[in-house]
Amino acid sequence: MTAPLRASDPMIVDVALAGRAYDIVIGRGLLAGLGQRVAALRPGARVAIVTDDVVATRHLAQAEASFAQAGIETSQIIVPAGESSKCYAVFERVCEDIIAARIERGDLVVALGGGVIGDLAGFAASAVRRGVDYVQVPTTLLSQVDSSVGGKTAINSRHGKNLVGAFHQPILVVADTALLDTLPQRIMRAGYAEVAKYGLLGDADFFTWLETNWRDVFAGTAAREHAIAVSCRMKAQIVARDERETGDRALLNLGHTFGHALEAAAGFSGRLYHGEAISIGMVLAFAFSAKRGLCAQADAERVVRHFTAVGLPTRIADIPGERPDADRLIELIGQDKKVKRGRLTFILVHGIGRSFVAPDVDVADVREFLSGQLA
Ligand code: NAD
Repeated sequence: MTAPLRASDPMIVDVALAGRAYDIVIGRGLLAGLGQRVAALRPGARVAIVTDDVVATRHLAQAEASFAQAGIETSQIIVPAGESSKCYAVFERVCEDIIAARIERGDLVVALGGGVIGDLAGFAASAVRRGVDYVQVPTTLLSQVDSSVGGKTAINSRHGKNLVGAFHQPILVVADTALLDTLPQRIMRAGYAEVAKYGLLGDADFFTWLETNWRDVFAGTAAREHAIAVSCRMKAQIVARDERETGDRALLNLGHTFGHALEAAAGFSGRLYHGEAISIGMVLAFAFSAKRGLCAQADAERVVRHFTAVGLPTRIADIPGERPDADRLIELIGQDKKVKRGRLTFILVHGIGRSFVAPDVDVADVREFLSGQLA
C-alpha cells in the first residue's frame, strides 16, 4: 500500500447514507476554501461557527476570512477548551447563542475544533429548531479520522460520558490536514491510536503500512492525507452498513471496553487522554485474545512494538498516579457496558486486521486476566 507522493488535489471519501450522503474532503490547506465550498452547497446560508478558545486563537481568523471572501455572514460561539465543555451548561449556552445568531432551518452550524466541539456543536445543531444542518471542520487527528464522521453527537451526564446525545449526520466534513501542524505532539499521538485502530480491526495491510510510514504521518507529508483517507473510508463503510450500531459498527470499539474503564479510573483527566487509553485497551484486547488462544502471541507483541515506537502507552502501569485494581476496573467496565448473567460483549481479534464481536465473554475471565496484567 503506497501513499501518493503529493496530495495536490483533495481526497474525497463518500459517506453513503441513503438520503443523507455526504462528503469528507481531506487535504492540506482546505480551510482557505471552506467558505466557497459551503456557499456552493448551501447558497445564501448564514453560519454560526462553534469553536473552543484554543482553536480560536490559531485558526478562527482564517476560517472567518474564508467565509467573508465567499460573502457568507458568520457569528462566533467560543467555549472553553476541554472535555468539561461537553456539559448541560455549555450546551445550553451554545443553543441560545445559535438562536441569538438567527440561525434558521437552511442556515448552518460549523463545528471548528476537535471531538469535543464536534460532539457539542453537532448535538446543539440536532436540537435547535428541531434540527439544523451542520458542517464538521475537525482540527485534531482524532476528530479527522473518527468523531467527525458517523453522526454520533453527545454531551456527558453525571452518570457517564456521552449519555445525552443524538444521531445527527453532518452535511459535509472538511479535514484540513495542515491544521494538525499546531497540535501538541501528545494529542497527535493520542489521535494516532485511532488511526492504527482501523488497521488492527480490519486492514492488516494498512497496519503494516503504518509500521513503515508512521513518522511521515506525524511529519505531515502526503502520508498523513493517505492515512486519514484510509481511516475515514473504513469508518464511512462501517457507518453506511450499520448507522445505529446494531451490528458491526461495534467493531469500531476495539480497545474501548478496557480503554473506557482506564479513562474512568484516571478520572477523565489529563493523566490519560482518550486515545492513550485506547492504545492500552487495544494492547489488552490483543493480549486477552492471545491468552484465550484466539490470536497469535506474535501479533499481540507486534501491536506493543508499534505503539511503543510511536511513544504511546501500552501498559496499565504506564498511567501516572494511582493504579486501579482489577475489581475496580471490572466495576467500571460494568458501568460502561451491559453485563448479562456475568457475561459481556467484547471486541476480540483472530489476528491483526481480524477483529470480531464476541458476545459471550465471562467477566470472571476478564477479572483474572486483568489481575495478571496488574501483578
Ligand atoms: P478535544 O476536542 O478536547 O481537543 C484536544 C485539545 O486540542 C483541546 O484543548 C483543543 O483546544 C486542542 N486543539 C484542537 N485542535 C487544535 C489544533 N489544530 N491546534 C492546537 N490545539 C488544538 O479532543 P479530541 O481528542 O479531538 O476529541 C475527544 C472527544 O471526542 C471526546 O469528548 C470523545 O468523547 C469524542 N469522541 C467522539 C466520537 C464520536 O463518534 N462522536 C468518537 C471518538 C471520540
